[in-house]
Amino acid sequence: MLSLSSICNEIKGCKKCDLHFSRKTAVCGVGYESASVMVIGEAPGSNEDQTGIPFVGRSGRLLDKMLMDTNMPRESVYISNAVRCRPKVGRAPKITEIRKCSPFLKDELNIIGPRFIIPMGNSALKSLGFVLKTDFGRVSEAWKKIYRINDMFIFPQFHPAAILRNPKLFHTMKDRFDLIRNFREDFENNKSWDYLNEKYGIIKIS
Ligand code: SF4
Repeated sequence: MLSLSSICNEIKGCKKCDLHFSRKTAVCGVGYESASVMVIGEAPGSNEDQTGIPFVGRSGRLLDKMLMDTNMPRESVYISNAVRCRPKVGRAPKITEIRKCSPFLKDELNIIGPRFIIPMGNSALKSLGFVLKTDFGRVSEAWKKIYRINDMFIFPQFHPAAILRNPKLFHTMKDRFDLIRNFREDFENNKSWDYLNEKYGIIKIS
């Protein structure tokens, strides 16, 4: 039967794309199996490749701060990646690599069933798009939007590494995480669909 540990075992032995040549350690998703929030990053970096844990470098510390500041400590969310093996230094995953790795994300989504999804960066948005058969476009256009697909709400967001490269984006990211917190509170307080729609301008994709 499919489980998070069986998915992780598959990831550890996966050779579906050329990224397995450059990895030291394939990095599985981590977190709470019944998490209502799922964060999706891009790819393991050097620290993740060494430790096998997602988001443990500088980007991870920035993400942890945002999660803590908005009542979503890391232990309460599930964290995954668009690809699970580290690309060679300095390059982003290719579309073909993201596509080949996306079934792992699909399986994780099916098991966890998160209500709120935060894809961070273009690779994460692309991977989620493959799974949900939706073209979200680029994060630079999508980051102000909230999408609803079935019972899931999707909040595209810049990748923390982009904020580290361009600190001016920090407040943008912080504002979006504050909005996600407010949205979750409203949702969990059973605010009506009309109320949510008017306040947040949700884009429904069927
Ligand atoms: S990146 Fe994904 S598809 Fe490619 S080898 Fe690693 S686990 Fe397999």
